Amino acid sequence: MNPYIDLRSDTVTKPTPAMLEAMFQAQVGDDVYSEDPTVNELQAYGAHLFGMEAGLFCPSGTMTNQIAIKLHTQPLSEVICERNSHIYVYEGGGIAFNSAASVQLLDGVRGKISPEQVAAAINPDNIHFPVTSLVSLENTCNKGGGSYYTLPEIAAISEVCQKHHLPLHLDGARVFNALVASGEEAREYGRYFDTISVCLSKGLGAPVGSLLLGPKPLIEQAKRVRKVLGGGWRQAGFLAAAGLYALQNHVTRLQEDHDHATLLGNALAQAPYVASVMPVETNIVIFTLAPEVTTDAFLGYLAQKGIQGTSFGPQMIRFVTHLDLSPDMVTAIIQAIEGYQA
Ligand SMILES: *Cc1c(COP(=O)(O)O)cnc(C)c1O
Repeated sequence: MNPYIDLRSDTVTKPTPAMLEAMFQAQVGDDVYSEDPTVNELQAYGAHLFGMEAGLFCPSGTMTNQIAIKLHTQPLSEVICERNSHIYVYEGGGIAFNSAASVQLLDGVRGKISPEQVAAAINPDNIHFPVTSLVSLENTCNKGGGSYYTLPEIAAISEVCQKHHLPLHLDGARVFNALVASGEEAREYGRYFDTISVCLSKGLGAPVGSLLLGPKPLIEQAKRVRKVLGGGWRQAGFLAAAGLYALQNHVTRLQEDHDHATLLGNALAQAPYVASVMPVETNIVIFTLAPEVTTDAFLGYLAQKGIQGTSFGPQMIRFVTHLDLSPDMVTAIIQAIEGYQA
């Protein structure tokens, strides 16, 4: 009856026919021997895009983040990041498990931290404190409702890091959403970050995979860590072909996802049973229901209409727009939002 509309995440997309065709046509080889031409091409292409030297294709963004953290830290050292960061909240405690490092959490504004906060969070040289060894930013900020840092904001944080000889990592799971929204160039990012993680499996629409980008010697080391985590893969070129296709064809269209998110945000803001909607800046819409409506009740109503969202905290729901969401589906969602009786 109703088309199934999945707003839970932008990870749910399926390869388009053209992407599948690119996967079928891929030249492959054993990537543990660095002999997969398509993986090599994807890594070089991604690195060049961001003004970085080298890249490493990995199965997930969790792995690219965790490898970067492992390389930048030592046991007894500390990572500075925002309280709601994916690296802290959603990676299973991996910073402690993989790197035996501690975390200094900062309270950001919709996921974003300031250079002043970073400067104040760097520990003095005193054996009571862990050694501050890394600063990590997330762009866009998932729990910030898809908010994003601009290049000048990043530059100011990078300046603090350079002054204190601290590496700066980017969890850029949705960095292309930030770039499309700001109109900035990916290439500029290479000047400010020591390592960058980019997801190909989110809004870009590839089925699997993330890239870790950085200087060549560090990426050589990253390949060792990926291997020990069980991520040394063989003929991964079929997946790399999807990632390459996504980078070459699915970046500018992210604007459509942002436009769809804005339409959904506006419809929700008008709804009497919605208490508030976080500002919609990219492809994420986070809203809070009025006290008289439970998330279960509203999500249950949407499910009857063939629409799925995610419960995202007390009274909160998250919608994420993506490649597999058509304008007709957006119209159907807006009708469902307008038709709900609390
Ligand atoms: C999705 C995501 C990741 C990586 O997740 P995987 O599912 O491991 O690929 C990292 N950071 C953020 C902010 C994300 O949204």
